[in-house]
Amino acid sequence: MIRLLDIHATYDNGTRALKGVNLRIDDGEFVFLVGPSGSGKSTIIKLITGEIQPTGGRIMVNGYNLGDIRPGQVPYMRRTLGVIFQDFRLIEKKTVWENLTFAMRAVGASPREIKKRVPYVLDLVGLNYKGDRYPNQLSGGEQQRVAIARALVNNPQMIIADEPTGNLDPTRSQEIMLLLEKINELGTTMLVVTHEKELVNRFSKRVVAIENGRVISDETGGYYKNEEII
Ligand code: ADP
Repeated sequence: MIRLLDIHATYDNGTRALKGVNLRIDDGEFVFLVGPSGSGKSTIIKLITGEIQPTGGRIMVNGYNLGDIRPGQVPYMRRTLGVIFQDFRLIEKKTVWENLTFAMRAVGASPREIKKRVPYVLDLVGLNYKGDRYPNQLSGGEQQRVAIARALVNNPQMIIADEPTGNLDPTRSQEIMLLLEKINELGTTMLVVTHEKELVNRFSKRVVAIENGRVISDETGGYYKNEEII
C-alpha cells in the first residue's frame, strides 16, 4: 500500500519536480504511471524507494511512514519492494541462478529457502531451463525476465517497474507486460512507469497521468484513451 499525501519535491538546484501530488495505491492494484519526459515520474519512484526525501508532504510505503522511519528500518521497508529497470541491471559475471541466489543471500535466506524459491520464480518467468546461462547469453526479453525473477525472489508486496520495456521490441514488450499482469494476478501490487502508449491502451488498467509535477488524470483505462484532451 502506497500513500503520497500532498507531496512536494524540489531539487537542490531549485527545480520543482513535484507540486502537491496525491496518490494512493492499494494492495493488489496494477497501476500504470505515465507522462512526458521530465514530468516527475522518476522522482515519484525515488521517493517511494526512499532514495530521496520530499520537501513537503507525507509518504507511507507498505506500513512504513517514510517521514519518521528509523534508519535501521529502511532495509526492511525496501524489502517490501522489488524494482525493475529498463536496462535490466543484472550481474554480468554471475549466471541467472547466481543472480537470484545472490539477491536471496543478501537478505539472509537459508540454503533450503533458496533451493525452493529460485526454481519457483524461474518457472514463473518461463526460464527454468536457463538457470546456468550468463546474462550475455540471453536475449533482451529473457534478461528482463531474469530481472523480474530477481525482483520477485524475496517475495515483495509490490513491484515497481521503471520503463521495463524500454529496450525491447513490441512483441517482447507485450510478453513482459503480460508477465507483469500474471504476477499481479498472483497478488503482487504493480506500479509500471512507461511511455508505451499502445501497450497501455491494450491493458485496461488504472492509469495515473502526471504532467509538470502534478497528477492530471487517474482513471481505469484512462489517459491515452483521452489523449486529444491532454
Ligand atoms: P521523468 O521521470 O518523468 O522524466 P523526473 O522525475 O526525472 O521526470 O524529473 C522531474 C523534473 O525534475 C525535471 O524537470 C528534471 O529535470 C528535474 N530533475 C530530476 N532529477 C533532478 C536532479 N537530481 N537535480 C535537479 N533536477 C532534477
